[in-house]
Order: sequence, then C-alpha cells, then structure tokens
Amino acid sequence: MIANIAALLYLVAGVLFILALRGLSHPETGRKGNLYGMVGMTIAILTSLAVSSPQHFITWLLILGGLGIGAVIGAVIAKKIPMTQMPELVAAFHSLVGLAAVFVAAAALYAPEAFGIGHPGSIATASLVEMGLGLAIGAITFAGSVVAFAKLSGRMSGAPILLPMRHANNLALFLLLAWLIHAFCNSGGESMLFWAITLVALVFGLLIIIPIGGADMPVVVSMLNSYSGWAAAGIGFTLGNIALIITGALVGSSGAILSYIMCKGMNRSFLSVIAGGFGGEAGSAGTVSGEQKPVKIGSAEDAAYVLKNASKVIIVPGYGMAVAQAQHALREMADAMKKAGVEVKYAIHPVAGRMPGHMNVLLAEANVPYDEVFELEDINSEFSQADAVYVIGANDVVNPAAEDDKTSPIYGMPVLQVWKAATVFFNKRSLASGYAGIDNPVFYRDNTVMVLGDAKKMTDEIAKAMTH
Ligand code: NDP
Repeated sequence: MIANIAALLYLVAGVLFILALRGLSHPETGRKGNLYGMVGMTIAILTSLAVSSPQHFITWLLILGGLGIGAVIGAVIAKKIPMTQMPELVAAFHSLVGLAAVFVAAAALYAPEAFGIGHPGSIATASLVEMGLGLAIGAITFAGSVVAFAKLSGRMSGAPILLPMRHANNLALFLLLAWLIHAFCNSGGESMLFWAITLVALVFGLLIIIPIGGADMPVVVSMLNSYSGWAAAGIGFTLGNIALIITGALVGSSGAILSYIMCKGMNRSFLSVIAGGFGGEAGSAGTVSGEQKPVKIGSAEDAAYVLKNASKVIIVPGYGMAVAQAQHALREMADAMKKAGVEVKYAIHPVAGRMPGHMNVLLAEANVPYDEVFELEDINSEFSQADAVYVIGANDVVNPAAEDDKTSPIYGMPVLQVWKAATVFFNKRSLASGYAGIDNPVFYRDNTVMVLGDAKKMTDEIAKAMTH
C-alpha cells in the first residue's frame, strides 16, 4: 500500500519535472516551469524520506543536516553568482552529481543489505550491472566536469591539450573500463574491481575533456549534464528509487537533445566535438589583432543620429552585454528608437553569451517584449533590409569568417549576417577577439562604425543622445 502511494507520488513528481522542462523552454513560462520543478523536487524528497523512514535519530540528523547545509550553500551561491559565471557553476554542480553517484555506489557495495541487493561479496548480478555503470558514468562525469569547470573559470587554459595518440589511448581506456565492469559484475561485488573501475573512469573522464577547446565548452557542459543524468538513473536502479530513475532519464535525454541542438548551432558534429582539438583560449581577454587595419570609430552621438532616423534596426547582443549588465540601458535605447517610429528587433544567436539562453534571460529581465526577440534562422534574412544594426558586446556570433574562411576554427558555424545591413554600429571596448580567439573582419568593413566603450556606458550615452 505504502509502496503504491509512493510510486504514485513519484509519478506526480515526474510529471511536474516534465512540465518544468516544458515551462523552461520559453522565457514567458520559465518562472512557472521553475515552480513546477521545485514542487516536484519537494514531493520527491518528502516521499523518499517517508518511504525509507530512517529508524535512528542520528540518521535523521544526518539527512536533515545534509539537506539544510546543502540548501543554504546552494541558495547563497545562487544569489551571489553573476550570470556570466553560470556555465562554470553548472559544470561544478554536475561534478557533484557524478561524485554522489560514486558515493552511493560505494555505499551499496559495502552495505548491500541496506539496499536489499544481497550481501557483501554476493550481490545480485543485475544490481552489480546498474552499480558498475552508474559508478563509471559518475566518475567520468566528476572528472570531466572538474576539467570543464577549470577551463571555463580560467583556472586552466581553454586551449585544447592534445596528447600524442590520444584516440588510441582513449579507446584502450574505454575497452579496459568495459572489461572491468564485466569482471566486476561476474565477481559478486569485488571491491578491488570497484575501485579499479573508479580509477580508470576518472582518468578516462579527464582525458576525454582536456583535448576539447574553449569554443566547444558549451556542448561539453550540456553533454556532461546528460552524463550526470544517466549516472543518476543508474544509481536510481540500485536504490530502487523510481523518482531518481525518472529524473535521471529526463536530465540524461534533455542534456543529449540540448547537446545536439548546440552542435547544430555551431555546425559541428557531435563526434568532432568529442574528438577535441577545436577552439582557442577561454576567457574574455582576447588578443588584439596583430595587423593594424583601418577602422572607422564613431561616437555615441553618431550612432544615436543614425539609429533614431532609421526605419528598421536590428540589435545583436552578445557576451559583452552580459558582462556590462547593459540590458536595461539597451531597452531604454530601444524604447527611444521605438518612440521615434523605428522598427526594432533583437537577433539572438544560439550560442551568444556563455550559456544557452543567456541573452534571452537578460533581455527578459529588462522586460524586452518577447515578440521583438528572434532566433537566428528567423531573422538572418532580414539583415539586408535593416538600415542599421547595433552589435552590443557580441563578436564570434557575427564573424563572417565562419562562412567564407575555410581555415577559420569557426568555419561552418551559422552566424548572424550583420554585415548585410546598411550600417553596422559595433560596440565593444577594443578590437580584441572574442571567445574563439579570432579576428573579426566586420570591424574593418566600410559600412561598420566601431563605437568603442563599455556596453552599458556607451548604450546609456546613445540613449541619452537620442532623447536630447
Ligand atoms: P564573444 O565572446 O565572441 O565576444 C564578446 C565580446 O564582448 C568580446 O570580444 C569583448 O571585446 C566584448 N566585451 C567584453 N566585455 C565588454 C564590456 N564590458 N562592454 C562591451 N563589450 C565587452 O561573444 P559572443 O556572444 O559573440 O559569442 C559567444 C562565444 O562564446 C562563442 O564563441 C561561443 O561558442 C562561446 N561560448 C558560448 C556558450 C553558450 O552556451 N552560449 C558557452 C561557452 C562559450 P572587448 O574585450 O574588446 O570589449
């Protein structure tokens, strides 16, 4: 009876998680989606506690203490973290999911009675399969996420680290891992094999992420997200917890779908991402172009005059807008243009900023109407009809080298064709490169005017110049 009620409640939680994912797919329903997720998670946690009904006071203390400490740390981090550091935070959190999977598997190995899966040394084979897979994926996720975190936060170079014979080594490690899992499942739960799987999986996780360059990191983070889901699902089977299986499968499959969408956004194949070796230095510092080519530099007043007198303007935000927190100033500037009768649209590249949906979230925060915000494929054909484009803190996502320079590391990535507009006002602080570490030919085009300066300050000045 209790088991049936619990299964029902887990199902309710699962449905709420699906509604959460659905809600999060659009900024308008995002808040509601988040709320569904929170309610679902509360139901799942309370049901797990009620079903397992720990007998000892100490156990309760440990569980509630752990929940409390974790919740406080999570809330403080969530409040403090700037949006620009979100990808590295996500990578750090994924590493914890992987680590948790390793710990749960170790607990199940040493106290199988508590999990109802046998006795030490004679654990049911089916449970060992789940445990071995969950352990391996968990350890890979942990090691890979730590490297992704180090690369994204600049603690480690974002450049690909290419070891000699890496494909052969990785294949050998993968085969060794598969053999160890097989031996572990046939051993009844040999602890030496358990730790050998952990070690090999950790090394494998490390080695598959270090050759991946900065520009592919978004895909890696979402791929690790997917792995962490599958690790959780594997452990859910070991624990016999339906909610964990459902949640793990949802995270696993949505992460895989997101990775696919991002690969499509960058025109890369998933295999070429995993093979690594692509992309330059991570971080926003960039490098100034070696060659000195002539560029036109404009003032806020120049930009204000042209933008206000245009009939159609497309705004292209990027990472720099997020760093400068210029979204509110941008909306005010757009309002001033709209007041003057200008048609204003926003063009969002799928990998603009530093995480999927980064720009959408910031624009939503500044109350930019959703119907003015367009995805790449819906707006790219409109640049040729725009009188002006205002690029604010974007760089790689508007780089024509992706279309016409076969030697460019971003060749093949679909980009926003801003150069087709009559005039391009390009706001950034200098002529430095963006995330992929490459020069942008748009800076030097005849129809481009560089409006150099901090995105918030410059946009504020343009908005003021429009209203005077
Ligand atoms: P880029 O990183 O290409 O360029 C951002 C530009 O913003 C820089 O060239 C910088 O130039 C400028 N900038 C920085 N600070 C400011 C500021 N305060 N005011 C004004 N400008 C500023 O950004 P994009 O959004 O065009 O492209 C995203 C890149 O990040 C892609 O290469 C993508 O693959 C990668 N990426 C994307 C992720 C995602 O999921 N969206 C995750 C991780 C990486 P300057 O220094 O001269 O000011």
